[in-house]
Amino acid sequence: MAKLYFKFGAMNSSKTANALMTKFNYEEKGKKVWLIKPAIDNRDGVQIIKSRIGLQAPCLALKTDDSIMQMCPHDEIDVIICDECQFLTVEQVNDLRVIATDFDIPVLCFGLRADFLTNLFPGSKRLFELADSIAEIKSICKCGAKATVNARFNEKGEIQVEGEQVFIGGNESYEGLCWRCYHRMILERQKERRS
Ligand SMILES: [Zn+2]
Repeated sequence: MAKLYFKFGAMNSSKTANALMTKFNYEEKGKKVWLIKPAIDNRDGVQIIKSRIGLQAPCLALKTDDSIMQMCPHDEIDVIICDECQFLTVEQVNDLRVIATDFDIPVLCFGLRADFLTNLFPGSKRLFELADSIAEIKSICKCGAKATVNARFNEKGEIQVEGEQVFIGGNESYEGLCWRCYHRMILERQKERRS
């Protein structure tokens, strides 16, 4: 029976490279891959998935009101791979759950666990609730400890302590950090803002 997989990691943990390598492995065995990602993430152009190490592939970009159930070409594919799955809606994750079981198509979702304020993204929350298999793609903080949280920085390099959960296309940047480094920086920033 096919499974729904959630592979999560912090920023810069090579999630996209993992997704594209997984696609390559399936295709090498003659399998047809349906590569998708939520269109809310348009950093690399809407119809392409690109990793920092140079791998890239065309994909279908899903808008928030798109029905995966209706769009899925389930007769023509062997596996579904979704990148940036934290931006899926609850309904879209529900669809992937049903497709994995009813059509016996493995669904592999790659994405972030939580946002820059350590709150779960809606897509990730639903995947934690529904996935058959949950695995962490590990990466390290600049101090050498495991990175578990994602910090948002503005163009001045200041860590952000408030703001919208999804804020793509500005001059902000993100970094995966361990909790100790993240928390220390957040406390320092809060102190600066009060003084
Ligand atoms: Zn650290």
